[in-house]
Amino acid sequence: MSDRIAIVTGGGSGIGRAIGLRLASDGNMVAIFDLDGDAAAATADTIVEAGGKALGVQVDVTDRANIDAGVAEVRSNLGRPTILVNNAGLSLDSPFLDITAELWQKSLAVNLTGTFDCCQAVLPDMLEEGWGRIVNISSSSFHSGSPGLAGYVSAKSGVVGLTKVLALEFGKHGVTVNTIPPGFIDTPMLRRTVEKGFVDLDQQTAKTPVGRIGQPEDIAATCAFLVREEAGYITGQVIGVNGGRNT
Ligand code: NAP
Repeated sequence: MSDRIAIVTGGGSGIGRAIGLRLASDGNMVAIFDLDGDAAAATADTIVEAGGKALGVQVDVTDRANIDAGVAEVRSNLGRPTILVNNAGLSLDSPFLDITAELWQKSLAVNLTGTFDCCQAVLPDMLEEGWGRIVNISSSSFHSGSPGLAGYVSAKSGVVGLTKVLALEFGKHGVTVNTIPPGFIDTPMLRRTVEKGFVDLDQQTAKTPVGRIGQPEDIAATCAFLVREEAGYITGQVIGVNGGRNT
């Protein structure tokens, strides 16, 4: 059990919601940031109903002032955050030659710059405490590529690089930084790609060594371990959670 203060971005849905619930059930106070303020509040309410302490905040990770205001709200309502899970993400698809400047910039803004800005906003609290845990949710498409997702895969690959740099810069301050690249997790994001015909779940299940699609709780369990005290010797690592598809 832990009694730290955690921020989970994109915690109103899918993987982020499962991470928020799991960190709370492990004893942490959890701030849920999401573009959708009602969804953030709904996850926070679920935590509170189960006896935990949580705060839902409408935060767009592409807006630095909005992030800073959200972190300030966490400080005044819960205390100093020392766990940050950068999970908010968006996969915008387009054939490469049709990618517009707007789509490219948006893919980078949500998935990569949002992660950079949240790290910069929360790291001073971790340095002050001499302890911190950052987990960046990237994507297994960084291992394998994915047709039609140049912006998304480029951004997620950038998240892996950023993770390694931060691990080197902040290890001596008690802060670990790792990334989990999930593969095929059953969430609203995956269901949207199935509906568009980009992913065939039966085919993907057949290609997955453990013989099933992942669940948000699979990612939450790994994240819960990485933020614990005992994971302090793990940093700068890419911890794949993909049923064995990418090794
Ligand atoms: P999801 O169900 O769509 O959840 C993503 C959440 O992020 C949503 O609540 C979304 O809010 C929020 N969000 C999007 N843009 C945001 C922004 N600018 N600021 C704050 N919040 C924002 O997707 P998921 O599958 O759980 O994905 C979670 C993470 O895992 C993402 O980083 C994704 O790239 C990564 N991932 C997922 C899979 C998979 O198979 N599911 C595989 C590889 C990587 P709205 O709903 O309001 O947009």
